[in-house]
Amino acid sequence: MSILYKSTRGKDDFITASEAIIKGMAENGGLYVPNEIPRLECNLKDFVSMDFRELAYFIVHIFFPDFQENTLKDFINKAYDNKFDSDHITPLVEKADSFFLELFHGPTLAFKDVALSLLPYLLKGAAEKEGINKKIVILTATSGDTGKAALQAFAGIQGVNIIVFYPKDGVSQIQKLQMVTQQGDNTFVIGVEGNFDDAQTGVKNIFNDTSLGKKLEMNKAAFSSANSINIGRLVPQIVYYFYSYLTLLKEGKINENEKINFVVPTGNFGNILAGYYAKKMGLPVNKLICASNENNVLTDFLNSGVYDKNRPFKVTSSPSMDILISSNLERFIYEICDRDDTIVEKLMEQLKTQGSYKISDGMGERMKDFYGGFATEEETFSTIKELFDDEGYVIDTHTAVAYEVYKQYKAKTGDLSNTVILSTASPFKFTKNVCDAIGIYEEGMDDFKCAERLSKAAGIPIPEQVKNLKNKKILHTRVCAKYAMKETVEKILGV
Ligand SMILES: *Cc1c(COP(=O)(O)O)cnc(C)c1O
Repeated sequence: MSILYKSTRGKDDFITASEAIIKGMAENGGLYVPNEIPRLECNLKDFVSMDFRELAYFIVHIFFPDFQENTLKDFINKAYDNKFDSDHITPLVEKADSFFLELFHGPTLAFKDVALSLLPYLLKGAAEKEGINKKIVILTATSGDTGKAALQAFAGIQGVNIIVFYPKDGVSQIQKLQMVTQQGDNTFVIGVEGNFDDAQTGVKNIFNDTSLGKKLEMNKAAFSSANSINIGRLVPQIVYYFYSYLTLLKEGKINENEKINFVVPTGNFGNILAGYYAKKMGLPVNKLICASNENNVLTDFLNSGVYDKNRPFKVTSSPSMDILISSNLERFIYEICDRDDTIVEKLMEQLKTQGSYKISDGMGERMKDFYGGFATEEETFSTIKELFDDEGYVIDTHTAVAYEVYKQYKAKTGDLSNTVILSTASPFKFTKNVCDAIGIYEEGMDDFKCAERLSKAAGIPIPEQVKNLKNKKILHTRVCAKYAMKETVEKILGV
């Protein structure tokens, strides 16, 4: 058994993991998926003594079999080192009635660091293996967190350029400063006059532009992606689902084979899809709870089988989830239609032309692994306050969306299974809203002032990454219209 990859659309040939990681996205507009999701035929109990890195090797090597054992282990050890401020990399914290899986202990304070710390190594290894000596241009759209995590990961790496597009007015002050102060000759950061969907659609169009692709080829360069459309981003995210389960098992909080829930604050459906893959691999999961903010297109989809993006785009306090076109849902659709690429192609065409599609009843039956819910802005804020008042525990706005939806789920279903909430960002990334929620915000305070207030109120230190930002020089001031993204890329690359 050796895993190969193909596009969710069209009848392309199978390619190796390395090729899929380098390409990022298929030329026919589809996303790369493994030809099977391997089922683990072993006893999870045998894994409890593994640390994060050992487990990461075990999971990643199954999906990416074309890397040598020593090479991959070396990549993983370099990726998951002391740039994370916890030995556990993704520590699990028990609070109130749940377990919070803190995924924000990396350099940029959001969960994107977990996969993006490894991706540059995978990409470099893949390029070496394929004998590629082209310049790789990482083209990325960000709703706020991927951008910095990718910039941080790829800055200064030889043979790579990274271009990041973020919605100019759609990210927090800290998120924006993190990106526009990025050093490195190979980094380019551009504010798009539009929202994340505009930025992501623009990037996908550039990927699918064959004439631009040819121009790049003539210049000995090629595009790749740091978004979760790249399978190299997705697979490392499977690791922490297993790791948190094993932590609970090790600590005697759950019994062998006990099913647990995961609640995932969701935007592009990447993080939760990794959880779905984990379940298919055999992790005992009861429900995957998909939590949305007021951009609740996924909630409606999971409840009705109709995906309809024709609705107002809202700017919320959880900007990294302000998304109406969830890219990775395509990979899930592919699974529930029995991997029929013609069905995927048809539905995605409808999404493109009409902005909506409806799945068959049979496919709907197979969505039962998920529960969908959403939190209003008001609920998000009151959840932050409640958890802080009751437990002294501060969560960010995205995590609050998840926790609120979990409370709704429990009230509705009475399901008392042990539950892990994926905590996707540090509260210090969204300090203004968090301070506002707990009642310590005053008109006119910027994110830095808020960080001081929050630190004092919660008794937790301000992360160095936030403190340092204040005096950093702004290096990127480029702005472009949403229809001018291609032009901007051509200008940057001189093609
Ligand atoms: C990216 C992000 C999300 C959404 O993750 P998806 O994989 O896009 O569903 C949630 N919370 C935070 C803080 C993020 O940065």
